[in-house]
Amino acid sequence: MDNNLLKINNLYVEYITTNPVNDSKQVVHAVNGVNFTIKIGEIFALAGESGCGKSTLARTILNLEKAKSGEILFKGKNILTFTRKELKEYRKSAQMIFQNPYSSLNPKMKIIDTLKEPLDINTDYSDIEKYNIINDTIKKVGLDIDIINKYPHEFSGGQRQRIAIARALILNPELIIADEPVSALDVSIQAQIINLLKTLKNDYNLTFILITHDMSIIKYLADKVAIMYLGEIVEYGTSSQIFVNPKHPYTKALLSAVPKLDGTKSDAIPLSGDLPSPTNLPSGCKFHTRCPYCMDVCRSCSPSDKEVFDGHNVKCFLYLNT
Ligand code: SF4
Repeated sequence: MDNNLLKINNLYVEYITTNPVNDSKQVVHAVNGVNFTIKIGEIFALAGESGCGKSTLARTILNLEKAKSGEILFKGKNILTFTRKELKEYRKSAQMIFQNPYSSLNPKMKIIDTLKEPLDINTDYSDIEKYNIINDTIKKVGLDIDIINKYPHEFSGGQRQRIAIARALILNPELIIADEPVSALDVSIQAQIINLLKTLKNDYNLTFILITHDMSIIKYLADKVAIMYLGEIVEYGTSSQIFVNPKHPYTKALLSAVPKLDGTKSDAIPLSGDLPSPTNLPSGCKFHTRCPYCMDVCRSCSPSDKEVFDGHNVKCFLYLNT
């Protein structure tokens, strides 16, 4: 039996928005033919600029957005064809940690009620059993059981994010999606939350999808990394493959400011211009409008995925004939 928890096959997600200038409808091509596999116990990072489609992809994996086509296989079963009952079970197995702990916790609910609510909705446990689960989960995230009778406003940002992580853990999920989990926190607190995620992965063999634009966090936490650009994964590999030997010009641009694992700096490639709109995708290679190595072929043809080393894939004409 393979060790795969999640396998995404040729996934497309589109949605319609209204153009604020002329009120016309336009299609947002948010996710465009994405493929990847995540093994049990891995931290899989999705990296890219804001608007590249990584949060939409995460929400689609949780079935909060509708896919246009493709497959999302969770333990071998396609969640896009799940019945309502199967989806209810799946939602217990896949949870999300949101970016902002100030808005993700209900200010009117005591912590005990916030943590008990998912147990009330999804389980038949007795009150004693629920209390024991809450107690265990609070300890897992480094807090004391005394906090449960307080309200969110009584905590710091770091403590709130620990409570939000506890809520994500309370149903004992197998997959957790962490969407920019520290970007709303003070820098002094960020390291504590990052270390907590690492401890949870190591101690409980949890599987994470980590969404962030911060390559330093990815370098510290991730086992595998996928670089997204305009809804496509343009490079994919282990953390050391991506940080020591990045291939795609966009990956190199993202990594320009981050020291490599061997202590040297990555080849600096300036990232010029803004991310094009996902309502009007460029022809050919979607990065060609910003790529310093752009060739004629890049403007008209889309490069296919090439495995440049074991498990290290890149979408770029610079590597297609090597
Ligand atoms: Fe640059 Fe061409 Fe490679 Fe795209 S395919 S990243 S435009 S060199």
